[in-house]
Amino acid sequence: MILKVARLGNPVVRQTAREVDPREISSADFQRLLDDMVETMREYDGVGLAAPQVHVPKRVAVLEVTDHPRYPHIERIPLTFLINPVVVPVGEETEEDWEGCLSIPELRGKVPRFKAVRVSALGRQGEKLEFVARNFHARVIQHEVDHLNGMVYLDRMKDLRSLSYLLEWQRYWMDDLTVRGKAKKGKAHVEAPSKGASS
Ligand SMILES: [Zn+2]
Repeated sequence: MILKVARLGNPVVRQTAREVDPREISSADFQRLLDDMVETMREYDGVGLAAPQVHVPKRVAVLEVTDHPRYPHIERIPLTFLINPVVVPVGEETEEDWEGCLSIPELRGKVPRFKAVRVSALGRQGEKLEFVARNFHARVIQHEVDHLNGMVYLDRMKDLRSLSYLLEWQRYWMDDLTVRGKAKKGKAHVEAPSKGASS
């Protein structure tokens, strides 16, 4: 089922989400929530979605970036479920790049993020996950974990001057980034089809 996405201003977006009891993970209700989150993320062309964005204040996020023929340089991310994720930066290096958010429609802004993070979480069946994510993958995870702490990408921007409406972003910034993305293979500057990534 496609769920309604909470937008900025809805208190649930600013709430700190609570830990999931691991015993809850195998329940039908919880598994349905995971399915619904995936369906919702795909419906709105998101690359990630956190449970508070669908009015559920629990520490759960899903992410996925699939292949797109127009953007062969895009970094793919397999469908991933992160339950109670803990994220620690690997090194101090940060990078600025564009982000969007399904809870803040029609806007894009440049956000600094750690280039690499170590992630510990539980997976869909409650199994332990432990991995290092880099670049765009690390960016999406940091964006989603912020949602679990009541934060949005606007809070992370160094200044708001890059903030652009989608139409203006496509007109003035996207092409430039597409060229840059192609030049630097493996860097995913332009993410979802013509809209940039939202999560
Ligand atoms: Zn978001």
